[in-house]
Amino acid sequence: MPKAPRRPLLAGNWKMNPLSAGAAVELARGVIPAARSHASVLEVAVFPPFPWLRPVWDALQGTDVELGAQDCFWERAGAFTGEISAAMLSGWCGWVIVGHSERRALGETDADVARKAAAAVESGLSVIVCVGEHEAEFVAGRTAEVVGAQVAAALQLLPASSVDRLVMAYEPIWAIGTGRNAAPSLADGTMRLIRRRLEQAFGAAAASVRVLYGGSVNAANVASYVELGGCDGCLVGGASLKAEEFSKMISVVAAVASPAR
Ligand code: PEP
Repeated sequence: MPKAPRRPLLAGNWKMNPLSAGAAVELARGVIPAARSHASVLEVAVFPPFPWLRPVWDALQGTDVELGAQDCFWERAGAFTGEISAAMLSGWCGWVIVGHSERRALGETDADVARKAAAAVESGLSVIVCVGEHEAEFVAGRTAEVVGAQVAAALQLLPASSVDRLVMAYEPIWAIGTGRNAAPSLADGTMRLIRRRLEQAFGAAAASVRVLYGGSVNAANVASYVELGGCDGCLVGGASLKAEEFSKMISVVAAVASPAR
């Protein structure tokens, strides 16, 4: 099956790293050359912790590396101590991740994820919505049921007009940060299920939504995902903290996506 003409996205989730603004800027700068070389075939975005958004924003001005935050709150402003709204982020970021399993593990619900995703697109941000099953659910053969329900819940408040700013990331929880990346053929099946759910929700407009894989992706295995018909790129954690490794991944994804190939 030929791949749909969606521009692949390689997104680097830095989680709670690095520890200083200087190291964050250095990491961001290290990704710029590879992103520039391959800007015609893929999109690259990095997601630093909140305090480093401003210095990294400065460092990325005029480059081909886009900037995103790792979470947002659904209210615009008010008495919500410790929260950061999507509206506030929209001055600095083009992107935000919502529903990451590490946030869900801290108590974020499907309803929260839906509100965050809706607030993000309403503020003009593009949003990566993460979904994925626990290991016990995977072992019990419940991946489709669990992921299908998470997708349906996350889309509930999204207007059809925002679909071009929506990206879904399939991240099996047992594969995140463990070095146990999901078998590409299995991941492909789940990404195709996500696309079917998107089509049910948005009809033909769903064709613009990219579906990513995330979970222990690195330069050695990224091609095995982006070559798949159901995969439009990857959400990368650990490997995005090394500029050289992430740059290598950019080149690999570009080679897979390149029309000359
Ligand atoms: C992630 O944090 O979204 C992730 C996929 O992490 P890792 O690549 O380290 O598994």
